[in-house]
Amino acid sequence: MVPFLVLSRSNDDVVLQVVCVTCEKPKQLTVTTEQARELASSARRNIQFVLPDMPRAQRELLITGTCGACWNELFPPLPSDETK
Ligand SMILES: [Zn+2]
Repeated sequence: MVPFLVLSRSNDDVVLQVVCVTCEKPKQLTVTTEQARELASSARRNIQFVLPDMPRAQRELLITGTCGACWNELFPPLPSDETK
């Protein structure tokens, strides 16, 4: 998991910021207060259990530090109609 900054905090939500390791742009993620607490904890479970509802691209940002746009460039979807 990559380090993240806490940008803002409300009663229910916490906005986290992760800088993409590839394009170096800051990206924001919104999680619940409870999720943020667990992410910051050393007893954290696997991210997919902590954030089951988060889209995979956003989880990848937390896990690998690669944003969705860079992830798509690194791992473009395979053309399904190509038969080589
Ligand atoms: Zn990126």
